[in-house]
Amino acid sequence: MLIVQKYGGTSLGDAGRIQKAAIRVANLARQGCNVVVVVSAQGEMTDEMISKALELNARGSAREMDAYLAAGEQMSAGLMAMAIGALGCPAVSLTGRQAGIHTDGVHGNARIKNVDTTRIRRELEAGKVVVVAGFQGVSDADDVTTLGRGGSDTTAVALAAYLKADRCQIFTDVDGVYDRDPRKYPEAIRFGRISYEKMLRLIENGAQVLHDRSVELARDHGIAVEVLSAFTGLAGTIVCTQE
Ligand code: ADP
Ligand code: ASP
Ligand code: MG
Repeated sequence: MLIVQKYGGTSLGDAGRIQKAAIRVANLARQGCNVVVVVSAQGEMTDEMISKALELNARGSAREMDAYLAAGEQMSAGLMAMAIGALGCPAVSLTGRQAGIHTDGVHGNARIKNVDTTRIRRELEAGKVVVVAGFQGVSDADDVTTLGRGGSDTTAVALAAYLKADRCQIFTDVDGVYDRDPRKYPEAIRFGRISYEKMLRLIENGAQVLHDRSVELARDHGIAVEVLSAFTGLAGTIVCTQE
């Protein structure tokens, strides 16, 4: 059984939250699952990094912005691998480049072209949990690229597709996909299942709960994406072919 689990920024907001995720991952690994964890930058880190960069250079190079922003996810990956290791479970962190994520050269909004899974598979075979920094890849020019805001979801779905994972789980700060933003509308209704097309329409109307390209990729590869709460871990919403 191979599982890809993605944890978003709020779900990794402090040491306690990272530890909570690490415990879930380590338990799965102990049960004999191969686990690939994709992480976002902690909390509001990406927003803060963008503000800092703009203070220094309002018209900065997109290449340098990507080189800088990708570090947010890399910090999370290192921390997560250490937290999992502290539980006695071997883990290794990888940047997007090390994880074999190849993209086009559109800095700030790069598209994944191919994933070379050799390194990830080798680490899994060595009995390690693999923690991949989300939101990033490498271009043909060997430059770091980022996938657009919210892009760690797309990293997770791409890895699930290329590794032919049995499950792809997106852990976030709400317990699934609703018909409207549950933080703004307490009366919002949660979907048990939702089709790719309906999910894409929700995103078009502003629901940033999943990155649009992650849903397109899941649809094209027929991957069922589970969206669930990092805090409860209870069954959330499955984004799949049929409602
Ligand atoms: P993460 O950091 O885990 O990637 P995001 O902030 O990108 O999380 O997405 C989760 C947020 O999406 C929720 O906190 C919620 O407020 C918002 N959201 C907007 N529309 C919806 C919707 N229709 N269903 C669920 N969440 C939604
Ligand atoms: N950290 C990036 C962002 O804030 C990517 C992600 O969270 O998916 O957009
Ligand atoms: Mg997100």
